[in-house]
Amino acid sequence: MRKTLLLLAMTTISVLSCKMNTQQQKDQLQLMPEAPAWGALWQQRAAEYRALSFQAYNFARLSFDALERKPSGKPLAVVTDIDETVLDNSPYYIHQAIAKANYSDSTWVQWTKQVRADSVPGAPSFFKYAASKGATVYYVTNRILQDKAATIENLKKFGFPNADEEHLLLLETTSSKVARREKIAASYEIGLLLGDNLGDFSGLFDNHAEQDRKEWVEENRSQFGKKFIVLPNVMYGNWEDSWYGKQTPKSFTDSNTVLNGLMKNYK
Ligand SMILES: [Mg+2]
Repeated sequence: MRKTLLLLAMTTISVLSCKMNTQQQKDQLQLMPEAPAWGALWQQRAAEYRALSFQAYNFARLSFDALERKPSGKPLAVVTDIDETVLDNSPYYIHQAIAKANYSDSTWVQWTKQVRADSVPGAPSFFKYAASKGATVYYVTNRILQDKAATIENLKKFGFPNADEEHLLLLETTSSKVARREKIAASYEIGLLLGDNLGDFSGLFDNHAEQDRKEWVEENRSQFGKKFIVLPNVMYGNWEDSWYGKQTPKSFTDSNTVLNGLMKNYK
């Protein structure tokens, strides 16, 4: 299946390239939706992706074992994101690229309902280990309510612990995860946070400019690989929004226009 998708994606990219003459190719960088698809292919094909994921989860285990518990008396929780942290959605982005479409909630729900997402390398064993040592796992995700049943089923498929409604905190009112983390922290000591997007770790990254996000990463560099375990995702993320600023593309048709405008700053 994945080989077929790869061939189809490459054919799509080739066809798009052939349709443009040389000058057009010079003027127009075709970045969307092929760019997320290229990231998706990397996620599926590159052994380096698997190595980085295992590296992240190896650090997670080292950090978990080294946790110095606060004398709060609260039980321990590990808080994790879902997409590109424990579940791999790369087939969805390749499918969208072939359809010449960007992300949309309706196509996304069609994808999650299939319960076909693979697990991220290293994720099932780490969370099973953490649960075996007494930690409660909470899934704080910006999947939507329509994804709920399929998400629980997909997590259960790989034996992820606490895969139930009580421990799944979906997007309801805001994409910021701050309030959901605070809700967990009221009853638990959060030992580790895992995610592929900086908003999975702190509200400081919510709706902030590119430079602010970079500076905060510099200031907190000692936390990465310790309390904050970061997974690779080159398909999408809030870095795009902070780059686009107010020019966020509203549809596929203006994606390339916006991106080409922004890319001129780098030529
Ligand atoms: Mg994610």
